[in-house]
Amino acid sequence: MSEWKNIGSLLLEHGFIDDDGLKEGISLQREKGMRLGEALVELGKVSIDDINWVLSKQLDVPYVIVEDIHVNIDLLHKFQKNFLMDSRILPLYETEDEISIVTDDPLNKSAMEFIATSFEKKVNISTGSGRKIEDILKRSFKQVGLPELVGALSGIIDKIKDTSFYRLDFLLDERSCRINAFGVGVMKNMQEIKSHFTNEDVFRAFDELSIPFLYEQSFGSNSRFLAVFPVFNRGTMVKYPAIIGGFGLFCPETTTFADSHVNGISDVFPYQGPVPGYPYLATKGNQYDYESMIFTVDTVPAEFHDFYVNTWIPQKCPSCSGAGCPACRELGYEFEKIEGVYSSGDLKEKLKEGCHGKN
Ligand SMILES: [Zn+2]
Repeated sequence: MSEWKNIGSLLLEHGFIDDDGLKEGISLQREKGMRLGEALVELGKVSIDDINWVLSKQLDVPYVIVEDIHVNIDLLHKFQKNFLMDSRILPLYETEDEISIVTDDPLNKSAMEFIATSFEKKVNISTGSGRKIEDILKRSFKQVGLPELVGALSGIIDKIKDTSFYRLDFLLDERSCRINAFGVGVMKNMQEIKSHFTNEDVFRAFDELSIPFLYEQSFGSNSRFLAVFPVFNRGTMVKYPAIIGGFGLFCPETTTFADSHVNGISDVFPYQGPVPGYPYLATKGNQYDYESMIFTVDTVPAEFHDFYVNTWIPQKCPSCSGAGCPACRELGYEFEKIEGVYSSGDLKEKLKEGCHGKN
């Protein structure tokens, strides 16, 4: 390739369009934020075939039938998803000194230079259908994305073990997955992954980590909200109503989750009664017995005087005042474990102290 031109000037040179056509194309391109080639096709000035002909003729770039391509997932991993999606580039393979890609826009000089510089290799370009490239990228990134989600999740769980976080919220939309942790007195944005995931992908990630869970889902206008309650530690059978706010603290063999919105593990039942506290658990077999309810709460229900408590009380990290530092695993809080029987008054004080403590 001797010189970088744009598709407009090439089409002009070969007589596919005239100056006025080019101007119309450029104004539609700006208006809709599309590519010039796409704009010219939309305006009926040229066909996709015209563009491919000009590109392969002028640039000596081979045209590739994209659906026959075997996707090299390892190579895909080396790129940022957004970069490939935005520039519609599908990397094909690499050798010691060359990397081969297919794109619908071989004139995208900055993208080609970016690849050449970051890999320190010569870039072999072929051209192919942009829509097909996009489809393949979307499909392939799903396969790439799941291990990324599993990795993120496992890191987050390591961080919030032994804290009062007990719920992970997943905000899922077409472009990203935001993960927030939520718990007694605390809420924290944990991570954002630039990938599209379904609820099933999230469930699969928990399955891969062998963590049983309960979940609740709702739908916003542009995103889905999925709240997941991991369930992987053993709870204790207690005679008091209990407050257990620790992450994954309760045991599915002895307790059930008493909330009709929540789904998941087979022993969930829809509780109809007016039970305060949210979310809450009941000892299995005694669903309607208040005395054996186990609550995980953010507020202390007024009905009960004494609680068995097994949780952590958050306190702003003294080293960073909540900003996040290595001492607090970037969480901004330190957690004091409390276990025992507390009166609701004591507990209210304790929670208040912890959440709004001196700092
Ligand atoms: Zn800190």
